[in-house]
Amino acid sequence: MESITIESLMEKINSIDKRYDTDKITRAYKLADAAHEGQMRSSGEKYITHPLSVASILLDYCMDTDTICAALLHDVVEDTDTTLDEIKKQFGEDVALLVDGVTKIGQVPLNTKEEQHAENIRKILMAMSKDIRVIIIKLADRLHNMRTLYARPPHKQRKTSLETMNFYAPIAHRLGMSDVKEEMESIAIHYLDPYGCKEIERLLDVHKEERDTFIDHITERIRSRINDIKPEPIIEGRVKSIYSIYKKMYLKNKPFDEIYDIYAVRIIVQSVIECYNVLGVIHDLFSPMPYRFKDYIATPKPNRYQSLHTTVIGKEGIPFEVQIRTVEMHNTAQYGIAAHWKYKAGLKGSVAGEQRFDWIRQLLERQQEADDVEQITDAIKNDLSQDEVYVFSPKGDVFALPNGANVIDFAYAIHTEIGNKMTGAKVGGRMVPFDYQIKTGDIIEIFTSGSPTYGPNRNWLDIAKTTEAKAKIRSWFKKERRDENIACGREELEREFKRNDIKITPELLEDAAHRARFESVDDLYAAIGYGGVAMSKIIQRIKESQIRAQKEQAQTLPTSEELTDETNKRSRKKGVIVEGVDNCLIKFAQCCNPLPGDPIIGFVTRGFGVSIHKLDCVNVINNMDSEENKDRWIKAAWVGSDDTTYRTSLLITAEQSTTVIADITAAIAVNRIAMNELNMHRLKNGNTAIHITIEVAGMEQLNNLKMRLEKIQGVISVERTGKQ
Ligand code: MN
Repeated sequence: MESITIESLMEKINSIDKRYDTDKITRAYKLADAAHEGQMRSSGEKYITHPLSVASILLDYCMDTDTICAALLHDVVEDTDTTLDEIKKQFGEDVALLVDGVTKIGQVPLNTKEEQHAENIRKILMAMSKDIRVIIIKLADRLHNMRTLYARPPHKQRKTSLETMNFYAPIAHRLGMSDVKEEMESIAIHYLDPYGCKEIERLLDVHKEERDTFIDHITERIRSRINDIKPEPIIEGRVKSIYSIYKKMYLKNKPFDEIYDIYAVRIIVQSVIECYNVLGVIHDLFSPMPYRFKDYIATPKPNRYQSLHTTVIGKEGIPFEVQIRTVEMHNTAQYGIAAHWKYKAGLKGSVAGEQRFDWIRQLLERQQEADDVEQITDAIKNDLSQDEVYVFSPKGDVFALPNGANVIDFAYAIHTEIGNKMTGAKVGGRMVPFDYQIKTGDIIEIFTSGSPTYGPNRNWLDIAKTTEAKAKIRSWFKKERRDENIACGREELEREFKRNDIKITPELLEDAAHRARFESVDDLYAAIGYGGVAMSKIIQRIKESQIRAQKEQAQTLPTSEELTDETNKRSRKKGVIVEGVDNCLIKFAQCCNPLPGDPIIGFVTRGFGVSIHKLDCVNVINNMDSEENKDRWIKAAWVGSDDTTYRTSLLITAEQSTTVIADITAAIAVNRIAMNELNMHRLKNGNTAIHITIEVAGMEQLNNLKMRLEKIQGVISVERTGKQ
């Protein structure tokens, strides 16, 4: 690496289209040069090359004159005889405060113990800074030290790399400075696991030529399809960073061949509307992989990152990630908070820009002591969206959860396994109950059990607030302990049958299972096993059915209202009642995927219960009057409602328009509906067919959405489609 001199620094300053006080910078350089006289870096270079390099990095961000001066002087107070007062006298209060801040951050003991971790990051972020520029200087300082780490002894390399990985890279990430973060991580991982990195480099090297050709090929295909957009979008194809591959291979244990996003293509356009249009083109050119589409434009990440992400697969069969964003989003993604200096006047001068980093700025501008955490927490809270709380893991990761969420939701947000194995939680060092409502700023530590048989408690289902956590708890009960549940359930059932003097026959069990709306006898056992169904009810039903069987068909049908009342509780699970058939097995027809609120009808299948169709389903229309089937159609209706969501697909036909996709995704986001898939293709008549798959709570929500969609300019029709 070429070392930087004051001349090359000045050259850089002159090349930047921005006013600098070169005289002040020269004076700062002279003071630093004199003060560090005789000191050497481990690399054998003069010490002054370090502050010069830090200043140069900061010039890449177009940081202001005072920041550049402070960068040149940042090690002077700590390592030489020069005092802070002298700096203040010669360069003013601002520069002195910056130098002081950087010096103090260097003095925070970086303890890697878990419980200390988040607190340390907070100390760095808060107590040391009255000014966010302090942290940016410190990050540049650390980045240069990482770049020159090769010259340090091995134990220092390791210690510095660990600190960088644990503290500075996360802070850079928190501030949205992904370029700095990525470079820090990729250097650090080389020192922390040289062999692991070599292995990845080797794997990447194996088919290097083919890889390069592949990337060229896909970027060219994309380019030729979007060349009508002016000014021309920037398209970059690349192999992702070694550290991102490293994380997936070694931390998530995925084999190299299964890592989807080794390749990434980035498309940078001018407007949000173009982002969505390009997305449509990408999904038309390549096949999107399900569940890999993320709309960070409608829902930005906590560090304000915005982009559309999707993973697609081409005819080569190699998946790759595509990121689509505007120039402004790209600047924020690369430079994070520092983008304000590079592209705007700096934080003080830009009101609109300030808004976007409010919570960080607030955090930093509070001048409280580090232990004044409560007050600071309250202060940040007001700044944040009312809908979400931001909390920290002990490692310092930020999690955004809906307002009202508790520690169970948090545990499941970290990882399903953490949730399932949770035994307790500490917030700010104190044990809290499971229903503790988390607050913005909380550092939450989750305790887990090492026992393989440990799992969630059933009452967590009532405590958890997020649908994600609830779904995960439910699925644990359904799956994880199935064998055990079946065994327990069978034992309990046999015991109860014996006590009630009921003879167990396979028919009776089958019948009992179907009456309780289970697909199989094992499902019934399993449900009894985990407490999903009470034994007493099963017995009662069997007794009732035995009595009823004796009376045979002497009964008249109950009225619809009676039916609703009586069966409401029992049939709640699937939300449907069927006239004349009590407690039968119910399933939803795949041909039309009925949603709560749809007019529906039941069809008595042979041996598989009643399948529910939409009244206007083609299968209903075609078979309604057929000789063979006409007696098997029965009335059905929806009852109550629960919080399950239903998957459904819409086919939207629209005129060729530049705004229509953006409007559609916005309408979906506004309605807080999850979108799983979005595909589009051009029709022969010039219109566009857009196919989306969404999760809705019921007909009402779907109808609202349809109405909104139909109102969008350019939309011709919105239809539900049966097939997925
Ligand atoms: Mn330094």
